[in-house]
Amino acid sequence: MAKAADNKWLRVNPDVVLSPAIEPVIVALDGEFERAQLLAFVTSGVRDRQKQLAAIRNYAMDNGLRAEFPVLNGSADLDAQVVVGTQMFPLWQVLWSRLLTMGVLINPPQRAPVLFRYQHPVRKVWIEPGTVIPASAHFYGTAFDVGARTQLDEKLAVIETAKLTGRVQGIIGITPEHANHAIHIDCV
Ligand SMILES: [Zn+2]
Repeated sequence: MAKAADNKWLRVNPDVVLSPAIEPVIVALDGEFERAQLLAFVTSGVRDRQKQLAAIRNYAMDNGLRAEFPVLNGSADLDAQVVVGTQMFPLWQVLWSRLLTMGVLINPPQRAPVLFRYQHPVRKVWIEPGTVIPASAHFYGTAFDVGARTQLDEKLAVIETAKLTGRVQGIIGITPEHANHAIHIDCV
């Protein structure tokens, strides 16, 4: 079987963990990116809780939440409890909820209620506080991200065409994440 590590056009970053659900899709997409003469990288595959917390921390830093949460300057424990209003919540839950209000789409490290009202950046609907959001599909090994700091629309078109034409099997969802500079792909 072809290996994603041998891809030439949709290359897999060295720290990305693959799974049986995502690897054949990544292998098949290589030919689609070659057809489009577009170089792209898989930036995330299977994640565990620690990787998800690290992703939340990085997005929080990238989006200027350090001013609001100076504790992020140190090696803040994202499981530490912080006060919001009159209640205590883990720091990750507060950061994740704040990121959603800023249009940064990321799932929690476990099923959790969101703390603040936000507009879903793709579906455009308003989500009320207390709505329970599922854990990331990355935990279950059924999702991967393609980096799209540049040429997001072109890369999105390659993946959507691959799915629509049936040339690449196994894709069930494609979500452009503009604020994250990535395209999230859900697989069977
Ligand atoms: Zn993703």
